[in-house]
Amino acid sequence: MSVRITPLTMQPSARAALGQPRVPFKVYTQRDLESIEALNRLDEAARFEMKVVSTVLPFRVNQYVIDELIDWTRVPDDPIFQLTFPQRGMLAEEHFERVAALLRAGADKATIDAAVDAVRHELNPHPADQMAMNMPLDEEGHRLDGMQHKYRETVLFFPSQGQTCHSYCTFCFRWAQFVGDKELRIASSEAQALHQYLRTHPEVTDLLFTGGDPMVMKTKHLAAYLEPLLEPEFDHIQTIRIGTKALSFWPHRFLGAEDADDLVRLLERMVEAGKHIAVMAHYNHWKELDTDAAQAAIRRVRSTGAVIRAQGPLIAHINDDPAVWAKMWKLQVRLGIVPYYFFVERDTGARNYFEVPLVRAWEIYREAMQQVSGLARTARGPSMSASPGKVEIQGVTEIAGEKVFVLRFIQGRNPDWVQRPFFARFDEKATWLDHLKPAFGEEKWFWEDEYAAIREARLAAAEPGDHA
Ligand SMILES: *Cc1c(COP(=O)(O)O)cnc(C)c1O
Ligand code: SF4
Repeated sequence: MSVRITPLTMQPSARAALGQPRVPFKVYTQRDLESIEALNRLDEAARFEMKVVSTVLPFRVNQYVIDELIDWTRVPDDPIFQLTFPQRGMLAEEHFERVAALLRAGADKATIDAAVDAVRHELNPHPADQMAMNMPLDEEGHRLDGMQHKYRETVLFFPSQGQTCHSYCTFCFRWAQFVGDKELRIASSEAQALHQYLRTHPEVTDLLFTGGDPMVMKTKHLAAYLEPLLEPEFDHIQTIRIGTKALSFWPHRFLGAEDADDLVRLLERMVEAGKHIAVMAHYNHWKELDTDAAQAAIRRVRSTGAVIRAQGPLIAHINDDPAVWAKMWKLQVRLGIVPYYFFVERDTGARNYFEVPLVRAWEIYREAMQQVSGLARTARGPSMSASPGKVEIQGVTEIAGEKVFVLRFIQGRNPDWVQRPFFARFDEKATWLDHLKPAFGEEKWFWEDEYAAIREARLAAAEPGDHA
């Protein structure tokens, strides 16, 4: 390898010159619930409920989120509190009671663990059969762990050191990756396997690092994945996207954290060498953009030449209000961030608590769009990341006397499906693609047979017995 790796350590004087104070990262998990002082304002019943829910669903929050993002005078309705702290409604009554009874009775750890395991397995942690259908295969048909290659141009990579986040979102469908269940993990420690795969796939232009949050990784680990991509053999990789919520949950990662300066340098080097670095920032609420640290971090990332694009799901109790989206998009544009995706939340464990009907998602999107200038209208959606592809709800209308949803693929397993309008019978309760039926009495979607064939071929190609 001829790539020159610039030393990653920086002179202390250089840090001082940047004027970034070191802020320690202080994190709380389920075991530390009692020591979060701010929670003392809640009554004991509410604290017990949190304990029950966080026994099942992952919980992790840090001091920055507690001090700067949550308005404790508005708890429990505060959106960032809903985003990060467990709420009773996030578990089905039956699941809640099962675990609560054991905790109340002081059951032993093994009994609780077994009950929790059983509940977790009932929560459908891998929607859209992504395990079976998206993992690429090597030449011999072995699955490549820690990667997904679903759309021709883009490979997703899950670095094993990035399988956690600075705080956890209560609605997150990736929770299975955080709770230590090996069988459910999608992760990789294999930079080499990644590079080998990309070498042999010239059709791939985009590499997307995801997690968890790759920005929890030490900079030197991130560099080990990124820097080899500057070799000429990876010229086809134009864009490196890094999906992250660190700009929201821990902006000091880009400011005064231990290896923040090295990270900034790494991004600079990648940009200078001709790669497009896209920081795919996950935002749910304008509040996350409204602190001094958040804005300083955004400026610093942008100063490297990286582009920040924003995406996030629509979530009941957090942002199901057009005013919240309009304000967030405006603030993003003001800060130089490009709004990218408006997602419909997928089928997660706490679905009943968070879901918003598709028709309401469209109304919220539309009403928010109407309030912003064209530069903020680059957020596409509402988009469902379903197994056949990303399906956008374009609107509700009436055609030949039938009320319908107008849909289209933003991305499809077959690129030929992209941008073709199709129609579903209107259903005011539907919250996901699989609740919808084709309009005009048609029996099938235009893509249905092809999708079934792709699915079958894909499952047959995988190693026998490993898509159970
Ligand atoms: C959204 C998504 C991508 C990226 O699609 P773009 O349209 O390029 O943003 C890639 N892979 C998967 C699995 C996705 O869900
Ligand atoms: S930051 Fe992303 S991966 Fe992490 S918990 Fe939130 S949604 Fe999930």
